[in-house]
Amino acid sequence: MEPELLLPDDVPAGHRCGYAALIGQPNVGKSTLINALVGQKLSIVTPKPQTTRHRILGILSAPAYQIVLLDTPGIIEPRYRLQEAMMRNVRHAISDADVLLFMADATRDTPDSLGLSFVGERPSFLLLNKIDLIRQEDALPLAQVYLNAFPFKEVFPISALTGFNLQPMLTTLLTYLPEGPPFYPKDQLSEHPERFFIAEIIREKIFLKYSQEVPYSTQVNVVTYEEREGKKDMLHAEIVVERDSQKAILIGKGGSALKRIGIAARKDIEAFTGRPLYMQLHVKVRERWRSNDTFLRSFGFEA
Ligand code: GDP
Ligand code: MG
Repeated sequence: MEPELLLPDDVPAGHRCGYAALIGQPNVGKSTLINALVGQKLSIVTPKPQTTRHRILGILSAPAYQIVLLDTPGIIEPRYRLQEAMMRNVRHAISDADVLLFMADATRDTPDSLGLSFVGERPSFLLLNKIDLIRQEDALPLAQVYLNAFPFKEVFPISALTGFNLQPMLTTLLTYLPEGPPFYPKDQLSEHPERFFIAEIIREKIFLKYSQEVPYSTQVNVVTYEEREGKKDMLHAEIVVERDSQKAILIGKGGSALKRIGIAARKDIEAFTGRPLYMQLHVKVRERWRSNDTFLRSFGFEA
């Protein structure tokens, strides 16, 4: 019938709401941007690429608008099934988006090309990030290289780290979003439950401690998380690896390595939830889980 009647009373006339998907190669600064905009450590940031596997939503709310930010795992060429599942998540983010934010690293010598195949499916912005690391005048020729490859609707040199130019970018972004009521309650920062962030914090500690092989073969699952009145919260998490040798490395001599990961993760989880925590970590071997559709599905990927 009358669609106006479905709008909540407190939505001002002209309220805008929509999705913006962040596209870009690993390490260009996507997570840093989301964190800067949403103002909370939602998506983990580490110096290593590909640490964000799941699509993560950050939600930016103000009385007059709501922008739902879709973070995507870095654009990569799929080498095995896990990466194919990651690329499917990227495609979903793109098909949901009103605007694509294509982020590039201004300090790289060669322009990113892989993610460029996605722009054009939606109105696209070029965000030239890490502008704090180069001279302003060097940004222009670089922007031109990208503009020659694709006619972006808007170009913004930004620094996700210092916040430079983020406000003008957001103001412009709003003009590309449709008018409509908010999708989420205005006090909600993210669609993901706490469990997701808890698993990400543990994974971050593993990434920071080990190089190449171990982290990329690792999945963290929160088995149970219990809030307990007057007692420490209780967390049981499992770390899944592909081989016995990886399990041995993660556990370390007499359990020392696992213990250090646990202590570091517990501190951050306590800071995140604001409550004291008792944590149990177990390491499990699931042979070749990254190539197994059933495991991938049970870990929350769309295999
Ligand atoms: P993602 O893989 O695209 O999510 O990239 P991250 O957000 O994890 O950032 C990768 C690295 O680049 C981290 O070490 C960030 O601190 C750094 N970084 C991100 N944005 C900026 C920026 O604007 N300036 C500088 N100097 N460093 C940045
Ligand atoms: Mg990231």
